Amino acid sequence: MENNIPLDENEQPPSTGQTPLISVNTVSVVSMPPSEMLLPKQPFTRRKHKEILSPKIEKSKEQSSPSAKKSPVADKRISEFRARFFPNTADDQWNDWRWQLRNRIVNLTELERVLHLSNDERQAIAQHKGPLPISITPYYAALLDPKDPMQPLRRSVVTTTGEYLITPEEKIDPLGEDHHSPVPNLVHRYPDRVLFLATGFCSVYCRYCTRSRMVGHGDDKYRFNLDHWENAIRYIEEHDTIRDVLLSGGDPLTLSDNRLEWLLSRLRRIPHVEMLRIGTKTPAVLPQRITPALTAMLRRYHPLWMSIHFTHPDELTPETELACARLADAGIPLGSQTVLLKGINDQVETMKKLNQGLLKIRVRPYYLYQCDPVQGTSHFRTSVEKGLEIIRGLRGHTSGYAVPHYVIDAPGGGGKIPLLPEYLIGRDGQNVILKNYEGKLYQYPDTDYCQDAQADY
Ligand code: SF4
Repeated sequence: MENNIPLDENEQPPSTGQTPLISVNTVSVVSMPPSEMLLPKQPFTRRKHKEILSPKIEKSKEQSSPSAKKSPVADKRISEFRARFFPNTADDQWNDWRWQLRNRIVNLTELERVLHLSNDERQAIAQHKGPLPISITPYYAALLDPKDPMQPLRRSVVTTTGEYLITPEEKIDPLGEDHHSPVPNLVHRYPDRVLFLATGFCSVYCRYCTRSRMVGHGDDKYRFNLDHWENAIRYIEEHDTIRDVLLSGGDPLTLSDNRLEWLLSRLRRIPHVEMLRIGTKTPAVLPQRITPALTAMLRRYHPLWMSIHFTHPDELTPETELACARLADAGIPLGSQTVLLKGINDQVETMKKLNQGLLKIRVRPYYLYQCDPVQGTSHFRTSVEKGLEIIRGLRGHTSGYAVPHYVIDAPGGGGKIPLLPEYLIGRDGQNVILKNYEGKLYQYPDTDYCQDAQADY
């Protein structure tokens, strides 16, 4: 079915570079839901609805939060980058997420303008074909070291020839998501929740992306359009065991407010869907997207949770802090997801700084992922022992809230499996022997008198 539905009036023409599968700025693949469907049937009472939507309340909440009141004062890296490469760009352009999307850096020529590329980077970018293209917002490009190809953020978003080395254990779909997909773009791996892949577009493409097979290109196998959304919604409606829907992709926060609201409202209407979640990297790479209008819309669909993909403490800028403050002030619980990456964040001190910084901006470090064996990522993968070393270096040495769950997403679709350093050493009679964060041994009396008493009868 063709979806010949007009663009949102606020949407802008496509940016340069590759055509996104579904984006705020093109109808080439997916189009706007019909306008009558843009007016969601609210699940709230009239009074509640009014309270939640009232711009007055929204404004006063914004004003009451010291962090949300801050204007997005850029850090020094960003001011210098703007002065050098975008000297005629006004603040309202730079702070407009659509401007950031239209001006993404998407090819070798544009990248060479802002970075001194190494031979390896230049060769890798020139050689690239297919999904996971280069794409970096001007905002995020400002955080990259123009001279050092080994700088952590730069390594995470600039292609290197390491991507062309495919090792035997790597797979294009390491988590077997396509095998757990009853309808296109919906993954149903756990009994009570589903992963809804809403888009194949991201503003910035991470070089280690688990879904590199489907993001950033128009392969027929991975198209994202209204028919797919409708099929996925129908599947969820027909399965009343599904109580939790995680919207991901690609990055769902690259959808326009109207499209995202259409989707959230359709999901919210399903009686057995208890909670909605959004997985996104937007607050880290395109914080301008988190506008008061977006958060006013999102707060209509509570309980709504958000998992934000952070990689390194260098991402914690005033702009990102403001974005997270707006989301938190809208009542959205924020958790972070971080992929453990060799040479990028595989040091205890780096991870501690990231996690402590996240707590300061009201994001709870939630998952630390062992890097999935996706094709072309061997240069990013650490040993599992490295992950355990990081958890050992955090647990007890900083606030418990700053210690994420270290997990391996089991290849083939086994789900997330938590990994912990050895804290339980063994038993001594009725005592368990435990090792604390300093390596000292303690005993805990592991007795259950109720059970023992019952056994005596
Ligand atoms: S933001 Fe997420 S989906 Fe997009 S490229 Fe990065 S890891 Fe992949």
